[in-house]
Amino acid sequence: MEKQFQLLAELQDIDIKIDQLRENITKEPLKIEKLQAEFTAFEKKVKDEAAKLDKFEKERRSCEIELQEGEARIGKSKENLMNIKSNKEYKAALKEIAAIEKANKKIEDRMLLCMEDIEKADAVLAEKKKEISEREDDLKTQITEIEKEIRRDEQKLASRKKTRNQLVGKIDEELVRRYDQIQKNGRTLAVARVNNAVCHGCNMNIPAQIYNELQKFDSIKLCPNCRRIMIYCKEESLKTS
Ligand SMILES: [Zn+2]
Repeated sequence: MEKQFQLLAELQDIDIKIDQLRENITKEPLKIEKLQAEFTAFEKKVKDEAAKLDKFEKERRSCEIELQEGEARIGKSKENLMNIKSNKEYKAALKEIAAIEKANKKIEDRMLLCMEDIEKADAVLAEKKKEISEREDDLKTQITEIEKEIRRDEQKLASRKKTRNQLVGKIDEELVRRYDQIQKNGRTLAVARVNNAVCHGCNMNIPAQIYNELQKFDSIKLCPNCRRIMIYCKEESLKTS
């Protein structure tokens, strides 16, 4: 019977590993989703930057057109000067030319600022485009790595399940039934190793008499506190509990 209990403890160790693998297999795809979401967010930043640059360039083109129109008006006004007869009209025309020149100067200033903005946005965009290509490579590598990890875990899971089946075949049916029952009742760990009259499932002391009986390995005993199947263990074999 002692051997039976040891096998049951082994069964639980395998079940713990199976649970971990299942959890990993569920969580790994979420990592991929998170990485993809981060990449998409960065892509959006690059698009925003490109839109900013586009806006500045449109502004510069519109300044150019306004400036050309201003220059044309000045040219026309200067041509008209020759046909003006009166001094008063001449002065008025000069004043008008001066006003257009002043307006053109303002447009030129605006255009210079705009060109500075373009230069900055251009540099930022170039930097971000470089980064996005690096990030894309990085993303592909990471996804490949995670997918490999999932396949490795799936292989391990299949192998552990096989080992579990083999093990179950060696354990007394009643023992396995009780074990499954406790797990179904919500206890992931159905087996608790016991040493020094302490249940390592709940860390509570168990009565001396039960502890003594436990060491005989002649029947299934549940911890009075946590209701797990108790298995007496020597100190050195407690590590895996
Ligand atoms: Zn207990």
